[in-house]
Amino acid sequence: MKKIVLLLVTLSMTLAAALSRARAEEVSVVVSGTPQSAADAYKAGGKLYLDAKRVGALYGGQVYWYPVSGRVQLSLRGRSLQLVVGANKAAAGAEELSLGDPMIVRVSRAFVPMSFLTGPEFAAWSGHQTRYDERTRTLIVEKTGTVGAPRAFSYRGRTRISLELASGASYRAVARGTGGLDLIVDYGVAEGDESISLEDGVVDSYALKQEAKLVRLTVRFTDKGQRWRVLELAGPRRVALDVYAPGAEAPVSEPVKRRRLIVIDPGHGGKDPGATGGRGTHEKDVNLAAALELARVLRERGDFEVLLTREDDTFLPLSERSEFANGKKADLFISLHCNAARNKRENGFEVYSVSETASDPEAEQLAAAENAALEFEGKDPQDETAKMILLAMTKTEMINESATFSALSAQSIAKRVDVAARGAKQAAFYVLRGTHAPAILVEMAFVSHAKDEAKLASRGFRRRMAEGVAAGAVEYARRQGWLE
Ligand SMILES: [Zn+2]
Repeated sequence: MKKIVLLLVTLSMTLAAALSRARAEEVSVVVSGTPQSAADAYKAGGKLYLDAKRVGALYGGQVYWYPVSGRVQLSLRGRSLQLVVGANKAAAGAEELSLGDPMIVRVSRAFVPMSFLTGPEFAAWSGHQTRYDERTRTLIVEKTGTVGAPRAFSYRGRTRISLELASGASYRAVARGTGGLDLIVDYGVAEGDESISLEDGVVDSYALKQEAKLVRLTVRFTDKGQRWRVLELAGPRRVALDVYAPGAEAPVSEPVKRRRLIVIDPGHGGKDPGATGGRGTHEKDVNLAAALELARVLRERGDFEVLLTREDDTFLPLSERSEFANGKKADLFISLHCNAARNKRENGFEVYSVSETASDPEAEQLAAAENAALEFEGKDPQDETAKMILLAMTKTEMINESATFSALSAQSIAKRVDVAARGAKQAAFYVLRGTHAPAILVEMAFVSHAKDEAKLASRGFRRRMAEGVAAGAVEYARRQGWLE
């Protein structure tokens, strides 16, 4: 009897071990910066497979599963991909895509290998970038498309809206009466829909929209009968629409004034990761990606010099950041950060300028948290803060200018991003204190808030954030008479 019991125990243990080697699990899903419900996955032979039914929804298409013939059809924007259980090739019309590992069936459901979804062939076919973070078990899907997001640049008497286009994509401009126009890209796939009210005195608003077989950029002018022209730019390929204010000469002469210098400072870096989110997002990485995007936006305008305090994942002491800006004689200083709070419900963006005292207790706590980077330099944040107060005393004028710059930036960011606006605030930030130029510190969103974290990880959100910050800098520069 004992032997039988022992045998049964051994058997069930063997069975359990076999089951644990191939098991059902769940993965978190974030699509274009928005967290979705978890997806069913299956692990077999050390490899991860995703429920085929869910794949359709993730990419905005539909999946048909034919269990008898073991076929899966994925339909996306009128195109379809055929997969067969056990086969490691998929058919996309006349084209063949390599799956690497074959599709499998578990409990009468089809599962697609994760390596196929994250690979370059599927990325090109689907028009989406897919990434899987093994540590946090999160699947991140982001649309790329053949039509990039529109960027707007306001100059005196002229507004330029440019759109990145994949090579081969063709476009046409169609007037909408006298009050605007449509720029149409036939068979285009947009990275995402977007609607911006620009209200810069030349262009009232613009919107990019994906339609069944085309992408449409609708631009509404401030006045009727404004003149416009469409031109193509290279490196990367862009189509640019210039709209002129009534009475403005076309083309408006290029600016001849000294180009002002903006120093962009991506917070933290190297051994100092900054704050870390629940899904493992490191603040230092988001800050760098957003800073590079901001540099791109400002450089494309053409009327600023732009430098970054760091362009890769290196550690940089706080004082060196402001010293760099001072040494280069920066006209504006912008430090980019992500917020974090113990209360996981705190969310939104805020823009800070330096002051002797904080505008509220939360602002004071935040400055203390960001100043804690001093500990990575082997310095006591308390001592250093005291030293910087003396330095800042001589620059009351910068404090006022920074507050103006901060308020303008908070307004222009709020127009573009879909996170809560917490406004412009003041606090004793070390990195801002030593800077001899109007300086702001942008806390782009809360990495400690699930939805904010997903947004910070999304390219689209960082692009809109960068455009908002750039628009704030432009508005400040315009008021200073720095721009034509
Ligand atoms: Zn920070």
